[in-house]
Amino acid sequence: MFQVRGYSPTIIKIDPYLNVDAGTMNPYIHGEVFVTDDGGETDLDLGHYERFLNINLSKYNNITTGQIYKAVIEAERRGDYLGVCVQVVPHITDEIKRRIRMVGEKSGVDVVIVEVGGTVGDIEGLPFLEAIRQMRLEEGYENTLFVHVALVPILDVTGEQKTKPCQHSVNELRRIGIQPDIIVARCASPLMESAKRKIALFGNVPYNAVFTSYTVDCIYEVPLILDEQGMGSYIMRRLGLKDVKPDWSEWRGIVDSFRKCDRRIKVAMCGKYTMLADSYISINEALKHAGAKLGVHVDLNWIETELLEKNSSMVKSLANYDGIMVLPGFGVRGVEGKIRAVQFARENDIPFLGICFGFQMAVVEFARNVLGLKDANSTEVDPNTPHPVVDILPEQKGVEVKGGSMRLGAHKIILKDNTLVRALYGCSVVSERHRHRYEVNPKYWDALESSGLVFSGLSEDGRRVEFIEIKELRFFLASQSHPEFNSRPGRPSPPYLGFVKAALDYFEGRS
Ligand code: GLN
Repeated sequence: MFQVRGYSPTIIKIDPYLNVDAGTMNPYIHGEVFVTDDGGETDLDLGHYERFLNINLSKYNNITTGQIYKAVIEAERRGDYLGVCVQVVPHITDEIKRRIRMVGEKSGVDVVIVEVGGTVGDIEGLPFLEAIRQMRLEEGYENTLFVHVALVPILDVTGEQKTKPCQHSVNELRRIGIQPDIIVARCASPLMESAKRKIALFGNVPYNAVFTSYTVDCIYEVPLILDEQGMGSYIMRRLGLKDVKPDWSEWRGIVDSFRKCDRRIKVAMCGKYTMLADSYISINEALKHAGAKLGVHVDLNWIETELLEKNSSMVKSLANYDGIMVLPGFGVRGVEGKIRAVQFARENDIPFLGICFGFQMAVVEFARNVLGLKDANSTEVDPNTPHPVVDILPEQKGVEVKGGSMRLGAHKIILKDNTLVRALYGCSVVSERHRHRYEVNPKYWDALESSGLVFSGLSEDGRRVEFIEIKELRFFLASQSHPEFNSRPGRPSPPYLGFVKAALDYFEGRS
């Protein structure tokens, strides 16, 4: 709503947990770990922010309790607070405010949107709410705006929209000194007049400051439905910003492209965190972006690779898909199933895209089944493998700390001429984001390449393999990096666009 009126925003996500970042959490706990250009391992919401705003955020756009306390305690140990009793108020809250302001100043934007994660009333969220309460006093009423998002459930028996939880959470906020200026109800359907009136009355906001974020088919529609209800104009007026007529044409075009998908293809998503689709949310979105561009709906079929290990008929059922993806991951569980999925795609010439761990497993599969290197593996999986075709990065060898210590963030990749990936990107130098500790072992480069595995992208220094492909196949591509983190609606990531196009061609060739 700011952007289409000519203002530039940035967004901060506050996660009140004690982890310094999301990097050490299992996707089942917290969904995907998103990676920023500057190597932050962040909450997946930053991915949504980048996709909605088409801007690149920094690791500083994700603030956690862990970061705040770490900074304050380190300062205390240094002696920065000599003689003082260090307390949540003001020291912790000062550090929170400092970080919010720093992001605003560094990015030179007009508006900083701060999402305080969690639920009002959470013990761990309190210092953050206290900090934003203080910020209103310091920055002034006209320069700050509180938006409270509250769930309005619908009782399945009576169909009634219940406003009580919202009334309670607003009360809870007011108890700590925050009166929301706007209330957004998250509800399956648009709020009925009576529910809206109740929320306004009990929430102590004007009737026209209550909006509904109702369920829509395509998440990218959300800003449109809120602005249609007048939220954009309300915010501009309230912040004293000129309310120019918003130009939604480009965004509307993007949203329409998601709606106009008349064909349907099926992709097998092979991984080990498949019980929670949020584990791979940027990949899911990248496939959707690519599908929308081509007018095709991409059906994601989750396949737990551990099951492929025990069940060879399940491996054969991969023939039912128009494309096979092997997903990123860590550790031993499900690895042999991933290798089988790669093998099936390669031997049956089904469009294949492997990402990060999926890339590494494609190399292992090729080494085992084409080069004949029995028991070839990644040393992450089998430290004693006779053929460590994927091995730890040399600079990682002495690294003991687990947090923030992988090869992270944006790195340049040089694409070779006359390769699939070079044609997809349409240029020879690209930048993609990384998150890994292992890589293709240089000792096996010659053997792999001379047997037909094309190293179509290398790191800038030429020392690591970034993309592999197999020429004779209709589409066999794998990437050490995560191109999905740069995919945006209307601007799909080239490897994903190529993969979906190949899957569509394969589908149409068969039907
Ligand atoms: N576990 C692999 C590595 O550390 C791959 C990581 C990933 O898929 N993001 O290199």
